[in-house]
Amino acid sequence: MVRELLKHLLRRPATSKYPFEKKPPFKGFRGRPVWDMKRCTGCELCYKVCPSEAIEMTGKGLEAEFKHHLDRCLFCGQCEEVCPVNAITMTEEYELTSYDRAGMITEFKREEKASEKPIPIR
Ligand code: SF4
Ligand code: SF4
Repeated sequence: MVRELLKHLLRRPATSKYPFEKKPPFKGFRGRPVWDMKRCTGCELCYKVCPSEAIEMTGKGLEAEFKHHLDRCLFCGQCEEVCPVNAITMTEEYELTSYDRAGMITEFKREEKASEKPIPIR
């Protein structure tokens, strides 16, 4: 037992020093989804496909705006996958805590006038 204890005392810790040392997320990591409202056409596909009702949509078409509820999001990436104009990106953001539920809501609003045309598909 003592031998085993001494052996482990001389070893480096298996854990990382998070949050002082942060490792970059691995390839394909799905963090917070973000909406590029300049691309969005308001087709409603992301809103309809979300399995956990994390996407709240107001307005229609080019006037559509979103509230994303992080506390409901499963980070499944279906919204990103289904968007026909690549308006949604699963970012590498993973430090997503808040002291209350209101802090878990991100609003995506339109800056440009609703009459402006969206950016064409990439
Ligand atoms: S990642 Fe999944 S759960 Fe989260 S908002 Fe998109 S579709 Fe909904
Ligand atoms: S799927 Fe894309 S284009 Fe359609 S409403 Fe969602 S963000 Fe907008």
